[in-house]
Amino acid sequence: MSGFPQAKVAKLSNGQRHSSPYLSDFVGGKVFTVCPKCGLQRRYDAATLLERAGDHCLPDLLKRIAMAEGCPRVGDKDDGCTLHYDIERMHQQPLAQSRNGA
Ligand SMILES: [Zn+2]
Repeated sequence: MSGFPQAKVAKLSNGQRHSSPYLSDFVGGKVFTVCPKCGLQRRYDAATLLERAGDHCLPDLLKRIAMAEGCPRVGDKDDGCTLHYDIERMHQQPLAQSRNGA
């Protein structure tokens, strides 16, 4: 494991930034969330949500959504909120792959 100055592997050990998708990855489509416990179902336009909440990785964003929607189980340690993304629906939709600017 020597002689290669550009060892990409070293990057992965610490921050796993690339494993979590960001809200900006879904711009051009919708973000679906559902909480079976509360019966909460929401659909957001990703671009609008990005403007309002900023760009967060999806797990982080989920907490913000749950709080914003007033899910009664947010922060409940024994019977926590089960709000999650309807990730299949999010991936089924056509997303604008082109990114404007940099
Ligand atoms: Zn909930």
